[in-house]
Amino acid sequence: MDNNKTLIVGGGPAGLATALMLAKRGWCDITVLERRSSASSYQVDKSYSYLIDGRGQKIIDLLGLTHNLAAISVPTTEFYLTEIKTDGSLKKRKLPIVDPNRKTAYWLPRSEFLNLLYEEIKQNWQEQITVLFNTQCLEIISTENKLEIVAKDARDNILKFAPDFLVGCDGINSIVRQTLAKWEDSESDLFTMKEFSSPSAGLKYKTLILPAKFSLNRDCTDFSNSTMAYAIRGLKTNNTVPYFLGLLPVKNPDLPRNANIIRRENDPIWKLKTGQELLEFLTEIFPQIPIEEIISPEEAARFVNSKGGYFPKPQYCLGSYFLAKNDCKIALLGDAIHCFPPDIGQGVNSALEDIIVLKEALDSSKDDLSVALPLYQSNRNPDTKALIALARFAYPYQYNQDPIAKKLWSINFTIRLLLSKILPFLIAPPAFLMIQNEQLSYKQIFNKAAKTTVILSLILAAGCLSLLKIVIN
Ligand SMILES: Cc1cc2nc3c(=O)[nH]c(=O)nc-3n(C[C@H](O)[C@H](O)[C@H](O)COP(=O)(O)OP(=O)(O)OC[C@H]3O[C@@H](n4cnc5c(N)ncnc54)[C@H](O)[C@@H]3O)c2cc1C
Repeated sequence: MDNNKTLIVGGGPAGLATALMLAKRGWCDITVLERRSSASSYQVDKSYSYLIDGRGQKIIDLLGLTHNLAAISVPTTEFYLTEIKTDGSLKKRKLPIVDPNRKTAYWLPRSEFLNLLYEEIKQNWQEQITVLFNTQCLEIISTENKLEIVAKDARDNILKFAPDFLVGCDGINSIVRQTLAKWEDSESDLFTMKEFSSPSAGLKYKTLILPAKFSLNRDCTDFSNSTMAYAIRGLKTNNTVPYFLGLLPVKNPDLPRNANIIRRENDPIWKLKTGQELLEFLTEIFPQIPIEEIISPEEAARFVNSKGGYFPKPQYCLGSYFLAKNDCKIALLGDAIHCFPPDIGQGVNSALEDIIVLKEALDSSKDDLSVALPLYQSNRNPDTKALIALARFAYPYQYNQDPIAKKLWSINFTIRLLLSKILPFLIAPPAFLMIQNEQLSYKQIFNKAAKTTVILSLILAAGCLSLLKIVIN
């Protein structure tokens, strides 16, 4: 329907799903540049699982892929957790479903989700969408009459593109956003990320790869099940907060299991120098499982030598579109405009919701980008700001990086949960639970949580005053 030549930089969840959304509405000349070698190429430190909730499913429903998603995922309705205590005993429980009226959400590894989107492109949209893997965008040049995107492929060949519509879905270090930050007027400051503090920002993580099936005890008589989540508890050592290995469920029984180790930057585990030291360390901490059977010397060496990553500060930029003088239009989606630690599981879901907001703006402007893009930005910005605020307080202590703060946070959570059941018209449930309700926007959730904070503060202040009066009298 539209002859816009579209170039999308980044073939992560936002890039591939945006390409599909545009193709589905009749756009027919869409190219995606992705620097990885394939959709499902394995990146150890990006091998976490996504929980695609009702918010993320809005675009998946629209693309007709929910059935396929369900077929390769573990639904929250079947989420069972086995805790392996340090004495070797096992405790299995079904995690309570907070709101039975909520849409079922699906757990699957990032690589499987990307593969799902790419398979859909390959099977049904090859005519409209070209995905160029091993192709990295190097530079974006704006001349008087066109926008030129310079990229290089795996053989270092230089490729040039001149799109009418450029979409930046290239993640936290987006070259598209950084280029716009250079182009914008010094006063406007729309494309510079505004960063905020969070108790989980700066935590270091590395992923330990476990076999698809591993022994749950030292006698090797009981083995893991792929669709089961595990919490392997570690002994407390040297006054550090106890270690723990958390494994999320995967549908595919042949996939390796990933345990993310998330600790402060100065944690002793990051100071280990060799694979052998790591194996000895883990054997001491997790005496209940046969570490030497589960983790090969090669995997231990890889873990020790891997750089790992750090949780980013919650951040966003106010600008999500740019209309160049040469008539080219530019939009930004996903981590390129909002990014935060993974505490609230909204990274992928918020990126997928950006696409729905862009789609609605295109619907109401009949695909006129010069009208749709300002609408996309003004409709999405309030939610983006609220999302970043929520990311700072909704569930930041789950990594046990500060046990005292975690206790205080848990008390606050429990008070809100109980009071919201007794006085639902006055007190909202904890923000983390409200986030799971896709019918509420991030802004509505933030406003409800903030109103509850004011009410609870007033109740607390009134209580303190009454107590003071009693003491004085
Ligand atoms: C440790 C960790 C755990 C996380 N856990 C969760 C979680 O449990 N749940 C959740 O929802 N979110 C999680 N996230 C966040 C989540 O990964 C992101 O929010 C989500 O992937 C955003 O999607 P995106 O497509 O915008 O960006 P990305 O997934 O970052 O995709 C960007 C893509 O662009 C490509 N690219 C970048 N620059 C270029 C270039 N110059 N040329 C060509 N290609 C380029 C990259 O290779 C990448 O494929 C986690 C993040 C981290 C770091």
